[in-house]
Amino acid sequence: MGLLEKSTVAVRSGIGSDNQYGSVIPPIFMSTNFIFSQLGEIPKYDYSRSGNPTVEQLESTLSQLENGFGAIVTNSGTSAINLVLSTTLDSNSLVLVSKDCYGGTHRLFEARQLKGDFNVRFVDTSNLDQVQYYLEQRPKLIFIETPSNPLLKITDIEKITSLAKSFDTKVVVDNTFLTPIYQTPLDLGADFVVHSLTKFINGHSDCLAGAVICKHKEDFESIKWWGNCIGSNTNSFDAFLTSRGLRTLSARLKIHEFNTKRILNFFLNQKVITKIYYPSLCSHDGHEIASRQQKGFGSIISCEFNLSSVQIEKFINSLQLFSLAESLGGAESLVCHPASMTHRAMENNALKNAGISKNLLRFSIGIEDYEDLLSDLNRAINLFK
Ligand SMILES: *Cc1c(COP(=O)(O)O)cnc(C)c1O
Repeated sequence: MGLLEKSTVAVRSGIGSDNQYGSVIPPIFMSTNFIFSQLGEIPKYDYSRSGNPTVEQLESTLSQLENGFGAIVTNSGTSAINLVLSTTLDSNSLVLVSKDCYGGTHRLFEARQLKGDFNVRFVDTSNLDQVQYYLEQRPKLIFIETPSNPLLKITDIEKITSLAKSFDTKVVVDNTFLTPIYQTPLDLGADFVVHSLTKFINGHSDCLAGAVICKHKEDFESIKWWGNCIGSNTNSFDAFLTSRGLRTLSARLKIHEFNTKRILNFFLNQKVITKIYYPSLCSHDGHEIASRQQKGFGSIISCEFNLSSVQIEKFINSLQLFSLAESLGGAESLVCHPASMTHRAMENNALKNAGISKNLLRFSIGIEDYEDLLSDLNRAINLFK
């Protein structure tokens, strides 16, 4: 058969691979260890920290979807990012990081810099002049989050990777917001993709996991070696849950996007909303780049409200179908106040520097019926008319 579409690859992952009973869905290998058939004969799997069939099935599908050489699945997205850092950096290294990245990512880079593990510069990766300026300082790595969290800033992956190549700088892209269905950074020249599989790929908000997908064989081999060395691996049950979610990713994304378009149109007509961050809008700074490098715009919308903090609280409390919670990308709709929730680990100055105001709300649009979502939002917003 020819090259399969991504939706097919995701649905068919490991189907019919069980040679013992012919189960349609592959079994979960819960064993920590595997038998050596005889002394001196090393089996394909010996110990589940270094390799497990259930985990490897997920790794191979993710690698195929991202067009990588190989993938390593970890116990969280944070752990995947940390694994790339542990593998590639030392105390003399400089790393550039998108300044409005996920709050936990920001904390990880800052905390490890403070321990003397490496040096970090938080830069606006959507500003190529600024990136070029810092590339002159020969960073080992540049870490990009696009679209960024929570302001959906877009970084031109192809331009950055071609700039970075001339400085021997490797490029890592956090592809959590779009997944390989909508964006494949390795095709645009990146060396590593990282994911919080916890979000869209699992899609059911019931398991933490992460992944590093490598473009090159040498990088994959060192990532795999370090993953085993530091024990960043996930367990087979979480890998099973993630594979289960991955099968329906493409179908879920269609409904996420369908609902998001309708909610966006509603938001555009609300006077209390003063600014909308969503890359399909021509007014969005990254619209042109996003249209070029993405196949979809995703289902995260951030909005600034012209409301006092008391009113924002009232608005959130009156929503019934948007749960106030961190995380995103699950089947259920969520609302989040980044300044006091996901990004609270950032100092006031860093928040301001990243442009995250106290009036900003981030919506993760789920796959409920869109008319129900709209009437919920409408009722809550009408309290302020
Ligand atoms: C959630 C998230 C992470 C961290 O992943 P965990 O699985 O929570 O450790 C990293 N990057 C982005 C963009 C995220 O949304």
